[in-house]
Parts: sequence; structure tokens; C-alpha cells
Amino acid sequence: MADTGARAGALLRIDLAAIRANYRRLVQELGGVPCAAAVKADAYGLGMARVAPALRAAGARHFFVALPDEALALRATLGPEAEIYLLAGAMPGTEADLLAHDVAPVLNSLGDLERWRGLARREGRRLAAALHIDTGMSRLGLPEDELAALADDHGLLDGVDCRYVMSHLACAEDAGHALNQAQLDAFRAARRRLPDLPASLANSSGIFLGAAYHFDLGRPGAALYGVNPTPGRPNPMASVAHLQARILQVRDVDAPQSVGYGATYRVTGPSRLATVGLGYADGIFRSLSNRGTGFIGGIKVPAVGRVSMDLVVFDVSAVPSEAVRPGAMVTLLDDTHGVDALAEEAGTIGYEILTALGRRYHRTYTDS
Ligand SMILES: *Cc1c(COP(=O)(O)O)cnc(C)c1O
Repeated sequence: MADTGARAGALLRIDLAAIRANYRRLVQELGGVPCAAAVKADAYGLGMARVAPALRAAGARHFFVALPDEALALRATLGPEAEIYLLAGAMPGTEADLLAHDVAPVLNSLGDLERWRGLARREGRRLAAALHIDTGMSRLGLPEDELAALADDHGLLDGVDCRYVMSHLACAEDAGHALNQAQLDAFRAARRRLPDLPASLANSSGIFLGAAYHFDLGRPGAALYGVNPTPGRPNPMASVAHLQARILQVRDVDAPQSVGYGATYRVTGPSRLATVGLGYADGIFRSLSNRGTGFIGGIKVPAVGRVSMDLVVFDVSAVPSEAVRPGAMVTLLDDTHGVDALAEEAGTIGYEILTALGRRYHRTYTDS
């Protein structure tokens, strides 16, 4: 049993060359403004240990992660050169680790700022950080009253090497949404009340809202991994995740009968069914029951019946029989049916498809 690929129910191929191409595409869209990379949640499920070095090779110098453990793992992966920003901020109890691994917290409140400033004083040196202003997410970042207090007393930043002031867009994927301009205005107004600092606002979709949103650093994640940052328009990004599931069993049915748990699908005429080796335990959401599609040799095959934990059944009646046998593959993600298409079928977004990709896949990374 040497070939782990032969033992897996499904194969996930991650195209590092496509990630690098997507990075270059975003750099081009930013027109000279530096481009960071969001690699939180294990690089959106694709494996930070492989993805982050590829992004660095493409030119990325700034990286954003969500949690302290991600920051520490990333520092170990990338070595001392990269700038690592931690979106969760300096959670109490993590400060020593952040200092030891040169991680810059994104300070989300005056309380965060006060504690980081106190640490800088005790350390006797300026400590790197970014400052997050809330302009419409009501999630993280200084709210208006805290911004006002900081505007009144810039001394609150003493000892902090504040490399960026940043905010985050709530509706960037909807280019016509009024909140985009409102957040842009609020961000500009906030900057006028603060010391002159480099700024960062745009996530993947924000980069495509135009140069006014670019400031001094782009901060894309999803687009790097193939998610369309411009929904409703052609996807400018290359697809990165390629997923194929192995056919375990093929059956010809000719009598009326039901398929899967709950008997939610009924075969009515002569049909050929293929059962493949992945399921909701692998991130193939149960909401894909009777809605997902796969492909065999470019021919569309619908998922029939409920998605179960380890199995999905496809109706492969339309496929020439020689292409349907145990061991053959059904494609779920590729260039023509990407994460956004699967997400649409599942009633979710490409981000959730990627970050839910399971741990049981045989994963390979290709680089050309
Ligand atoms: C996740 C995240 C990003 C990247 O967003 P995408 O939509 O994936 O490009 C940028 N900034 C912040 C604050 C984030 O949380």
C-alpha cells in the first residue's frame, strides 16, 4: 500500500503556479501598489505551508493571518523576512509569543492599543502593529468613539510602530453597493484625524473597485485561490483547486427505486448510477444533495439523493459505459466548474467551499 493516492476516495490537486499567476494578476490590477496575501485558515484550506512560500516567490512580502497559532506557523514557514500581521490582534496572554516571532498585531480597539503601548514601554523599543478602524462592519476595529479619543490624543500611539491604518469592506463583491463609497469616505475621514500613516482597505473584490480603494497595500485572499472577485462578470482569476472523486461502484437500475438516505430521489427509468468516495465529511456539503454536479470526460452528471458522510451518488446515464467503471474519476472542481460553481449549487460562497475542503483527500501540489 505504498501509493496513498490509490487509497484515497478522492484526489485534491492544488495548482501553485495558478496561485502565483493570480498574485501577479492582482499586482497588475493594483498598478504598482504593494500586494499582501491573506493566508488565514491554512491559506483558505489549501495548505499554508505550501501556499505561503509560493506567494513569497511571486513577490508577496506582507501576510495576514487570523489567529496567533497561524502567525507562529507562518513565521516558521517563511523565516524572518516576511511581515506577518495578525488580524485577531494582541490577545491577552499571547504577547510574548508575538514578540518572540516578530508578529505585528492588528490593533482592534483602544484597549488593544493601550496594552501594546504598555508592552513597548516595558520592552524599551517601538513595537510593530497595524491599526484597524471600523468603517461599517461592526465586527473588529476601533468604533467611532474610540477613533475620536485617538484623534484627540495622538500620544496614544507613542511607542507603537504603526505600519498601516486599515479598514475592511463589507460589500466589495457588489460593486454597485452604496456602502462601498460610504466606507471609503469614512476611511478617508478617519485618516485625516490620525497621524499620516500608510493605509490599506481593499480585499480581493475591493481591488477591483478601482484605484481609489487601493491606498498603500492590497490585502487579497480569496482571489489568490481562484474565487471570482467580480461576481456577475467573467472570473479574472485562474482556478487553483482541482478535485476528483473515485467511483467505488457502478449499478444499472431499471425498476423504480430510491437512492440514498431519506429516499429523496427516485429513479424512474433505466439508469446507471455511480457511487463515489467522498461526502460531507470531506466538505461536500449536504446541501449539494440532489443539486451538485460532477463531470466525466466533460459530460455533466447530476448528484442524486442525499450526500452522505463518505459517499455521493451520481446519475451517469449520459456517459459512455466504457468511461464508467470502478476506479474511474468524477470531477467536482476544475477550470470549467470551479469553487464558485460548486458553491452556487450548495447555496454558499467559494470561500466556504475552499475552507471546508477535507483532510482525507490525497493532496498533491503542482507547480507548472
Ligand atoms: C480575510 C480578510 C481579507 C481578505 O479578504 P478576501 O475577501 O478573501 O480577499 C482582507 N482583510 C481582512 C481584514 C480579512 O479579514
